[in-house]
Amino acid sequence: MINVTIFNEFVHEKTDENVRKIYPEGIHMALKNYLQDEKIKISTFTLDNITDLTKEVLDKTDVIIWWGHLKHHEVPNEIAKNVCESVHKGMGAIFLHSAHFSKPFMSLMGTPCNLTWREDGDYELIWNINPAHPISQGIDRFIKLDCEETYGEPFGIPEPDQLVFIGNFEGGEVFRSGCCYQRGNGRVFYFQPGHETCPTYHNEQILRVIKNAIHWAKPVYRIKEIICPEVKKPMEE
Ligand code: ZN
Repeated sequence: MINVTIFNEFVHEKTDENVRKIYPEGIHMALKNYLQDEKIKISTFTLDNITDLTKEVLDKTDVIIWWGHLKHHEVPNEIAKNVCESVHKGMGAIFLHSAHFSKPFMSLMGTPCNLTWREDGDYELIWNINPAHPISQGIDRFIKLDCEETYGEPFGIPEPDQLVFIGNFEGGEVFRSGCCYQRGNGRVFYFQPGHETCPTYHNEQILRVIKNAIHWAKPVYRIKEIICPEVKKPMEE
């Protein structure tokens, strides 16, 4: 069983009627309802109960999924730091859409993570440029989204270890939409689609990518704490 924790700030869905229509229970619940199966068990957190997202919860989490936009600054530094530490110890992390500016993602990248954006109803083609990658299994040459916020390069991230998807938008912009990293023992996937006013997380192919990413990011090797142990002898007989 893979234990997945979803954090969604859950603000747009409560303040914007259009968003509420698309995600009546919140993005976190839509993702949970679609992604939970016999192999994936999901718990959800929002800003309303973020203090419950404790170290103990993170220790039991195999993969965390993060969606935030308006209230990144309201995520306590301590919790962001714990998320990063858990990744370094071996937990997987999937950052969606505007989570490019979330505290844990920026800290794991160590770069500004800035981009260009435009919201004018462009369609997007998400090109599968790495069809042999575990995250792109079951995905054809591209995924077409009739509505998505335009994100454009330059995207202020470090060079991805593996690039799986490149988005191209009606207006001509291109964007590194699916980026893989290893940080310490943990795997990190950034996936660009998911603007709150578009029904992106009801799209089967997008959900397939996220599910694949959960399986890819689950811990391979995990340590309990980050320490520098003293080794008395070079080798034990
Ligand atoms: Zn957005």
